[in-house]
Amino acid sequence: MSKKRVYTFGNGEAEGKADMKLLLGGKGANLAEMNLIGVPVPPGFTITTEVCNEYYEVGQDKVVELLKPEVEAAVAKIEGLMNAQFGSIENPLLLSVRSGAPASMPGMMDTILNLGLNDEVVEGLIRKTGNARFAWDSYRRFVQMYGDVVLGMKPTSKEEIDPFEALIDELKEERGVEQDTDLTVEDLKVLVARFKKAVKEQTGKDFPTDSYEQLWGAVMAVFRSWMNERAILYRKMEGIPAEWGTAVNVQAMVFGNMGETSATGVCFSRDSATGENLFNGEYLINAQGEDVVAGIRTPREITKIGSQRWAERANVSEEERVREMPSLEEAMPEIYKELHRLQLKLEEHYRDMQDMEFTVQEGKLWFLQTRSGKRTGQAMVKIAMDLLKEGKIDEKTAIKRIEPNKLDELLHPVFDKKALAKATVITRGLPASPGAATGQIVFFAEDADRLHNEGGQRVILVRLETSPEDLAGMQVAEGILTARGGMTSHAAVVARGMGKCCVSGAGALQIDYKARTLTVDGKVYREGDFISLNGTTGEVYEGMVDTKAAEMDADFSALMELANKYSRLKVRANADTGHDAAVAYSFGAEGIGLCRTEHMFFEGEKIVAMRRMILSDSTEGRKEALAKILPFQKEDFKNIFREMHGHPVTVRLLDPPLHEFVPHDAKGQEEMAKDMGLDVEVIRHRVSSLMEHNPMLGHRGCRLGNTYPEITEMQTRAIISAALELKREGVMSEPEIMVPLTGIVYEFKEQENVIRATAEAVFEEYGDRIDYKVGTMIEIPRAALTADKIAASAEFFSFGTNDLTQMTFGYSRDDIASFLPIYLEKKILKVDPFQVLDQNGVGQLVKMATEKGRAKRPELKCGICGEHGGEPSSVKFCHKVGLNYVSCSPFRVPIARVAAAQAAIEEA
Ligand code: PEP
Ligand code: MG
Repeated sequence: MSKKRVYTFGNGEAEGKADMKLLLGGKGANLAEMNLIGVPVPPGFTITTEVCNEYYEVGQDKVVELLKPEVEAAVAKIEGLMNAQFGSIENPLLLSVRSGAPASMPGMMDTILNLGLNDEVVEGLIRKTGNARFAWDSYRRFVQMYGDVVLGMKPTSKEEIDPFEALIDELKEERGVEQDTDLTVEDLKVLVARFKKAVKEQTGKDFPTDSYEQLWGAVMAVFRSWMNERAILYRKMEGIPAEWGTAVNVQAMVFGNMGETSATGVCFSRDSATGENLFNGEYLINAQGEDVVAGIRTPREITKIGSQRWAERANVSEEERVREMPSLEEAMPEIYKELHRLQLKLEEHYRDMQDMEFTVQEGKLWFLQTRSGKRTGQAMVKIAMDLLKEGKIDEKTAIKRIEPNKLDELLHPVFDKKALAKATVITRGLPASPGAATGQIVFFAEDADRLHNEGGQRVILVRLETSPEDLAGMQVAEGILTARGGMTSHAAVVARGMGKCCVSGAGALQIDYKARTLTVDGKVYREGDFISLNGTTGEVYEGMVDTKAAEMDADFSALMELANKYSRLKVRANADTGHDAAVAYSFGAEGIGLCRTEHMFFEGEKIVAMRRMILSDSTEGRKEALAKILPFQKEDFKNIFREMHGHPVTVRLLDPPLHEFVPHDAKGQEEMAKDMGLDVEVIRHRVSSLMEHNPMLGHRGCRLGNTYPEITEMQTRAIISAALELKREGVMSEPEIMVPLTGIVYEFKEQENVIRATAEAVFEEYGDRIDYKVGTMIEIPRAALTADKIAASAEFFSFGTNDLTQMTFGYSRDDIASFLPIYLEKKILKVDPFQVLDQNGVGQLVKMATEKGRAKRPELKCGICGEHGGEPSSVKFCHKVGLNYVSCSPFRVPIARVAAAQAAIEEA
């Protein structure tokens, strides 16, 4: 028997089925499957992916010869089912041609519709539909699509314009009209003639009039598109093998605009916004598919209940509703019954909410497409948990149905969709911290603080970049917008910790602090003007855009419990205050993976003592200042330990460069001088001596503790005594003291000695002991490379993948915004490595260091506390390399928990 190259489907029969994706492509297999379960789809056939490979082996002519008998038989089958003939003038059958690879490859090749039209057939179509405008418009679209895609007239660069579009513009100018829809039938005829002339001029050949010639041309173009640049690049990025090839789907065209017994619509088996189990959708009588989405005519509700809800909102009487906006349920009851039955069947079959397109052609219902419906975060959770309760999916499937990042929508305020549709985007930055915010522009943290606390105003803090001094202002702002800085810049990290919306690195912003203005593309915004931020997409909007508060419900809690049941990886949080720790605990954090102690030094009196410490020039002076800080630190730790209810808390010793703490403005320096009884010149000199050319690689991390051991001593004392005092109250805690930025084992050992000696002294003083651990961050490549040596001393590792990414790539975390957009556009980088862990480079250091460390110390606890700890693909990687936990900002804990469960399920 000769090889089968064509698989037909139609009228409830199909030669293929769902599990034949490799041979028929995703779309072809799905079309076959829909037929088999009794869903009416326009009949057609699929040419297999194997033929695509043959095309590249034996060439076009030979492939046509091989395909001819099967394709002609398949077309005849469609003709029989549709009662129309391909190429006929009296009763024409038109076809659509689409590509369909085994894996979805969006935008690989455009669809060709209305294939089979020519100057005579178009007249036949007019007689059949009674609609000259539709027929000529279909024809002009067909010539354009065919010219662009099959005859290769589509421009290859963005700078050139499509020759057909140019002709449309030219004609519109001649006619003095604005819209395509303003062109008359006569105009459309002129266009088709001009299009065909352009084809002749550019390709040297006449536009094909023979229906089969058109069909072969389209089929071969699909095969050709498999090797176009876009497709090759996409496959490379997604790891899709070239040998898979693409299938070609050819189907009968059906029309919803053949009169009052025809219609077209889209529908959903459940509500895609709320998740409510309610069939819904929109339709139009005597219309084409695009009309429903294009908004030229107002579509009507499919169900009666939907229509009634609409009437309620629009304040329309029942009488008027029935007259003006009858539902499909009322207008075409038989069709509706059939549609309802089939949507139930499709959801039952695919076990997920379906988004379906249908057309009614002269009283006959056709499904054009079904797919899993896009949905909001809220709907995603509700639908997954409802399907689980209904027994349609199992627990693991319910977890797999969750897109972890989408949970953000449930945790942060979001924009009201209607308000957003009307808003104007003024610029874009990095999506540094999710959520939506709207408020008045302020440029200084003190102003934010004042306006919020005194005037109750909602403000957006706009800065070139933020520093720890801005913390109080950031705290009260609705959102934060910066012109510089990447995803791990100060603004981004702090905002995520606070669960506050932030857009960072919006390079197009010109900020003038003196004039208190913000300029974008020549447009000036002043202090007090309203702007809005979308921290999930990085968009900045003009004016006020209404927001909707976050909502969490019983389904969300049930999902979280389910996630815990399946995950191996623990999820901790990065939190620096009792408040943040409490939020993290409420989201299910099982410990603190990183407490950045420096954030504690900026509140109230602490900053003064801290500045004294930094600006004094003797050990004695520093010790004196540190003694003032000690009680505050101890209280802070007690708060955090208490909120974590006995779960481990990793406290990191002081890490950032000291200049971040000292006053850089004249007023602040004068105050310091007065406070310390020194001349302001001395202070100014000391401040400037702290400036470094490359502070990220300068005097920071354990280099501080090693040069000023008294800082480590004070911090250890605060941690240990906090735990001991809580123990007296009956509250248990599990502190883990962490040395930052270790590169050489001796750096760690020196610090470990100070920590252990101090702890012993404190135990002695209190006459009691507690368990504690001493470990280190692994955030310098050298530490990863020598992890075995470090593990001989350190009891735990925490991968600081922010710094590790910075130092492995050599990209400054604060300056990446200047070149990242270009790198992404040129596809030098696929994603921002500060957001998504670079598994092939930085990830290999994590893996190697874990293995080396555990070879030396099998019980070595390993976690990650860089920003990647809350990013789903990075969490899955951490699971694979066997880390014990990930730690992320409190608001990302639920996301990490679901990702951790998915990792475990995928592994099994
Ligand atoms: C890191 O470097 O990944 C880290 C968590 O520390 P920080 O961001 O505070 O430098
Ligand atoms: Mg770090």
